[in-house]
Amino acid sequence: MSRAAGASARPLDGQAVIERLPDVVAAQIAAGEVIERPAAVLKELIENSLDAGATRISIEVEDAGRERIAVHDDGCGIPTEQLTLAFARHATSKLRTARQLFSLTSYGFRGEALPAIAAAAGTLTFTTRTNDSPAAAQITFRDGREEDVRAAARAPGSSVELLDLFANQPARKAFLAGPRAERAALVRVASDAVLANPSVSIRLQIDGREVLNHQAAEAQSQDITEQRYTDLRYALASVFGPGPAQRAVVFAATDEDGLSLDGFAGATQDARRNRDGIRLFVNGRPVHDRRLSYAVQEAYRDWLPSGRFPLAIVRLHAPPDRVDVNVHPAKTEVKLRDADRAFGLVQRTLRETLAQDRSAAPVRLASSQGQRPDLEYAEELRPFRPIQPGLAGSPRSAIPDTSTAAKPVESTWPGRLPPLRMVGQLHRTFIIAEGPNGLVLIDQHGAHERVVYERLLAASDDHAGAVRQPLLDPPVITLDANEAATWSGANESLARLGFEIDLFGDRAVRLRALPAALPSVADGERLLRGILADLSAIDRPPDRFDPVAASAACHGSVRRGAALDAAAMGSLLRDLERCRNPHSCPHGRPTLVEIAADDLLREFGRT
Ligand code: ADP
Ligand code: MG
Repeated sequence: MSRAAGASARPLDGQAVIERLPDVVAAQIAAGEVIERPAAVLKELIENSLDAGATRISIEVEDAGRERIAVHDDGCGIPTEQLTLAFARHATSKLRTARQLFSLTSYGFRGEALPAIAAAAGTLTFTTRTNDSPAAAQITFRDGREEDVRAAARAPGSSVELLDLFANQPARKAFLAGPRAERAALVRVASDAVLANPSVSIRLQIDGREVLNHQAAEAQSQDITEQRYTDLRYALASVFGPGPAQRAVVFAATDEDGLSLDGFAGATQDARRNRDGIRLFVNGRPVHDRRLSYAVQEAYRDWLPSGRFPLAIVRLHAPPDRVDVNVHPAKTEVKLRDADRAFGLVQRTLRETLAQDRSAAPVRLASSQGQRPDLEYAEELRPFRPIQPGLAGSPRSAIPDTSTAAKPVESTWPGRLPPLRMVGQLHRTFIIAEGPNGLVLIDQHGAHERVVYERLLAASDDHAGAVRQPLLDPPVITLDANEAATWSGANESLARLGFEIDLFGDRAVRLRALPAALPSVADGERLLRGILADLSAIDRPPDRFDPVAASAACHGSVRRGAALDAAAMGSLLRDLERCRNPHSCPHGRPTLVEIAADDLLREFGRT
């Protein structure tokens, strides 16, 4: 800092001397604005990696960032000839004209971070290689001064390593918060980056210990919106753990003015004692906005006791010209042109999400939580008492101790399945999967029944009419008296589901088409006879439970005993995930049971 002192030095005669600040000093002063703490440095470096299109970012921190911060990415890199320029003040590749300031989609645009960070650090090394360059280049700064640019080796991408941060700003160093608070701030920066960019894999190691490891989900869906939520749920699991991620419920809304938002509302049981679980983003930037945070808390007010704060990820998307990101040097204070509108939209959407989610019982009523059936299916479930799940035939099931009995997978937000990893098939009857809490067994027939049942109902509700699958060689089926009577009563329902059956003489019918929702039916005659037999056995069909659809689903689903390949099992799990009520088959039996890993450990005497 000796030269900085010169800038304001007065000669002995008392006359002020006006001097231009040497560049290094100017950069050090600017550095103070942008990088008040290690977490702020990390934020700038991660944003540069994201702007460079990185898909993987790996971060190492020692001594809460004072000793060392290193960030490695697989982004586009900087061409060797531009490396020196990248560290010049106001050098940026992201902004050409002032007009672009209003339509900004990249994180950086000021070109201030790298020179400021180089000025603050004892040593900064930046190693980078573009995709089409055969070798990497490395630039080193010591006490803010460029030392040299030399050839180096690394894969395409960039690595920044800072040693002895704030070596040149002893005052700044003295005012740093304690290492615990600094570490928390570093984790916050990295976890916000994960939540804002779930499709990027981000790993953070502090003092050699991995504190965050987000692996972006592999693309599973053609549907971009669906993929986005899958990605975000994975991000949520990486940051807050698989349980809260599983229980959180997704929401999305748009208003007439093009302001939109999406995110996850955490379950009441995942509420916290501080506001750390409220994460707000505007156009991909984490923001700390007291009003928006208050909007979230207000939405939860009826659901949480005082002193509890929700887990909620809220991502606002506004047209770039409606947002001002330039009000704060570290860009955390994004200013929305109409903050009231955003406040209202956030509060309304969250409230509706919580109110609609029928299981979201207020915490004060926690004891009544859990077993509530989905209202729309409540009537459907009533006539059939769900079979008490247990491991039938296992010696354990006879013992009253229920601790190891399999439980139906229940989440605080039923209607939602936990993320399941398919492992294999058991007895040609069950699909074995791994869930967040342990082993999950899925009844292949019941699960498929549920999928087909919902498809049939959805198709029959469709105003365009159910999609039919005409039979090339329509069989003529002779019905017995009982079947014929049942058929004439049920034909209208059958037609609504997509069957096309006409009378073909005395007690004979011709089956012309099947519902397209029953793709795997090989024998139409058997299907029809099966349905008619089921229906004649039911005397008073319960309301809302569509026995025709349920029966068609039953006869049109994969049987127990059918060998399924991995692809078939995987797609069945995904179809089940999309169901409104994936936890039970149309007859109310559970489609899946879970054996908690804890219980397994106990069985093996490991706890
Ligand atoms: P800004 O991000 O505001 O443009 P910075 O000082 O942070 O300014 O970075 C200056 C320039 O250096 C960027 O515009 C970009 O071209 C380049 N750069 C910085 N970090 C990286 C990186 N990790 N990968 C590729 N290019 C980078
Ligand atoms: Mg930047």
